[in-house]
Parts: sequence; structure tokens; C-alpha cells
Amino acid sequence: MGNHAFAFLLAATTIASASPLPAPNPQIAGVVKEISAKNIEASIRKLVRFGTRHTLSETTSETRGIGAARRWLESEFQSYSKDSGGRLQVTMDEFTQPPGERNPQPVKVVNVVATLPGEQPESRDRIYVVSGHYDSRVSDPLNATADAPGANDDASGVAAVLEMARVMSKQKWDATLVFMAVAGEEQGLFGSTHWANNAKEKNWNVAGMITNDIIGSSLADDGHVDNTHVRLFAEGVPALKEIPEEWRQQLQTGGENDSAARELARFIKATGERYVSGMTVNLIYRKDRYLRGGDHSPFLAAGFPAVRLTEPNEDFRHQHQDVRQENGIQFGDLPEFDDFAYIAQVARINAASLGALALAPAVPAGVEMETKELTNDTTLHWEANREPDVAGYEVLWRETTSPLWQHAARSGKVTRFTVQKVSKDNFLFGVAAVDRDGNRSPAVYPVPSAK
Ligand SMILES: [Zn+2]
Repeated sequence: MGNHAFAFLLAATTIASASPLPAPNPQIAGVVKEISAKNIEASIRKLVRFGTRHTLSETTSETRGIGAARRWLESEFQSYSKDSGGRLQVTMDEFTQPPGERNPQPVKVVNVVATLPGEQPESRDRIYVVSGHYDSRVSDPLNATADAPGANDDASGVAAVLEMARVMSKQKWDATLVFMAVAGEEQGLFGSTHWANNAKEKNWNVAGMITNDIIGSSLADDGHVDNTHVRLFAEGVPALKEIPEEWRQQLQTGGENDSAARELARFIKATGERYVSGMTVNLIYRKDRYLRGGDHSPFLAAGFPAVRLTEPNEDFRHQHQDVRQENGIQFGDLPEFDDFAYIAQVARINAASLGALALAPAVPAGVEMETKELTNDTTLHWEANREPDVAGYEVLWRETTSPLWQHAARSGKVTRFTVQKVSKDNFLFGVAAVDRDGNRSPAVYPVPSAK
């Protein structure tokens, strides 16, 4: 049966089972395959050789300090740009951070940013960001001179971002990808806050952001190895003093687990595990580790869906520590504690997810649940997507206690759909857009319709 006949059948009846996944996209599979642990290792060792990359460290030396590090990052992105035929655009996003708790003097902070514009005019303004932070620190957050190798925190994340930029910029994607190495994370998320606030001010459509921070080690502090899991932190309801109206509506209908960040997290788990065999993405329903934060936080504060990837077991002897030996124990964030093959696996999960997002249509707009009549069927409507290659939509649902989508029904190019004999009283619903090649957007949670 052809795809069209299949879509029609699904639209005409209610299929209460998980939708068949389309065949893996060859472009995404190719990118995943090309990501190299060797390149990641080389980048990490290079970053460590700058001695310290502390945000307040020296900037004029060609071999030591954060200035030399960012110039090297720029030259790396530039070399990928050449291979992309100049499509990858490299910029230094610099600004002066006024004095604060962790920077007694004003300091110039520079994000090294490589942007790969989308190829589809209708999708080009839709942006997906992937980041790591290239600054590092030791025990004293103000110590800008001691060796701060930061091999895991966060040369691992930066090396993954570089490798994704290298591989993905050779290919063409519908939406825009932004590969970012930010600074000032350890002093107070300076770089990511600056970029996210600028994006909000300019009304940029940041449809998803992933920060990779501490993705370097598969070795737990008790000595056991776990190289098959990665933690994905995703916020639900933001802890604001007052509940915004959109959230009030969502909470009234039991949608507390369906923030845009959680939908993005579901998408990354499904996509990452599909393309990277042997890896499991552990969803964690929390913005970050307990009371801690990272570069996705300012994106969330600016209203963008953003999540954090981190290794399964942090070893705090190798994080924010002076490099030293104590009672025969090595402290410090050294490359010998990194697992480069593991970092490559996490980079592959990122690349598969970003590729799938950037090939898929946008999430449908104006998704509403019809509520005028009391019925045990469920009817949703939405606005038509504007991309020319949209083939239809998918209505997804799951039990209210289920973390992941369990069922789906495919519609054609319609903007209203009824799932018969499945009641919105008992299930959570979402709607996704699907293109002709089977690329599917993340889902979006419906608001109750006024009509
Ligand atoms: Zn970090």
C-alpha cells in the first residue's frame, strides 16, 4: 500500500496504536555515521593545552588563556565554513559584562557562533541552537591563572559542537542551525544569557536549544562504567512568581508535563535512540540537576524550549577542582578521565535530533481542543503549516501517567481531526506536522478552544 492510501486509511478510521516510523532518513544516518571520536579527542586535547580558559584569564597570548582559545575556535569553524562552500557563517558575538559577584572588573565576553542558514525559505527563520561552554575554572571561581583544563566541563561539550558543525555544515537542512561555543558560563551564564536575550529582543524564532555540558565521562565515582546512557534535563512548569495565562490554561487541562521543553525532550529521546543504537536517553523532569543551572536556563527564561544533556554519573573530584594529588587521589578536570567514544555517542544523539528537527516542518500553530459539545470523541483543530512540502499532520496521544507518546493517527492536509472513541478526559493529546519524506515535528499541546 502506498503512503497516500495509508494516510487516507488512518484519517478515515481511528488507529489506536503507535504510528509506524518512517524509514530512517539517509541524510541523518550519514551525519551520525561520520561523527568521529578521534576529532573530538583532538579538539579536547587542544582546548586543554590553552592551560586555562577562565573567563577572566589573559587574552593576548597566542598559547594560553581564553583569548587564544576563542581565536582557535573561530579558526576551526572557519575551516568547516570553507568545506561548506562558505555557507557556514562564523561570527564573534562579543560584549562587555558589567562587574558582578564573579567578575570584579568589567570583562569582554565572546561567544564563538557558527550559523548554517536553512535552505527552505519558509523554514529559514526557524532556528535550532546547540551549545557548549569553552570557559573553565578551578576550585576558586575567581582564580584566572591556575591550570584549569576543563576537559569534561566543558571541552567535551564544545568538542561535540565543533564536530557537529564540521559534519552537518556539509549538508543542507530546511531550518537554520546555530553551533555555539559560549563563554562566562562559570561566572554566571554570561554568554548564553547575552545571546538568548538578544534573540528574544529581536523576536528570533528559536524553536529548540540543546546545551551539552559535562558529557565527557562514562566513569562513575564508585568506579563503574556507564557508556550507554545520557541524562536529558527538561523543565515542566517554570517556577515563576505568577502563572502566565498560557500556563494557567495548560494547568487547567492537566498539561503540566507538556511544556515545549518536554515535547522537545520526547523528540530527542525518540530520535536519538532511533539513530544511535545502544544509547538510552534518560529523561529527567527537572530544569537541571538539583538547584544547579546551565546555558539552557537563560533560553528557557527568554521563552525558548531548551534542554540540557549531561553524563549519567558526575565525579566531583574532576569538576571545578584545582589539579592536585591528595592521598594518592588525582583531582582536576583532566583529559585522562574523558571517554572520547562516549562523547561521540552523545554528539550523535545531538546531531540526529538537530538534523531531524531541521528537516521537519515547524510544530503546527494554533492547536486547539474543541470543547463546545460534551462527547467521548476528541476533536482538535489547528492552522495549516506554510512549508510547501507538508504532507499532513499526526495527532498523538498517551495516558496521563505515561511519559512518552503511545498512540498516533495520521491525517492528510487537513486542519481539523477527530479521534473517535478516545476521550480527552482520559488522555493527553498533541499535534505534529509531517512532510513528504516522513520528517515529523515535535508535538504541541492544545489549548482549549473558545468556540
Ligand atoms: Zn559546565
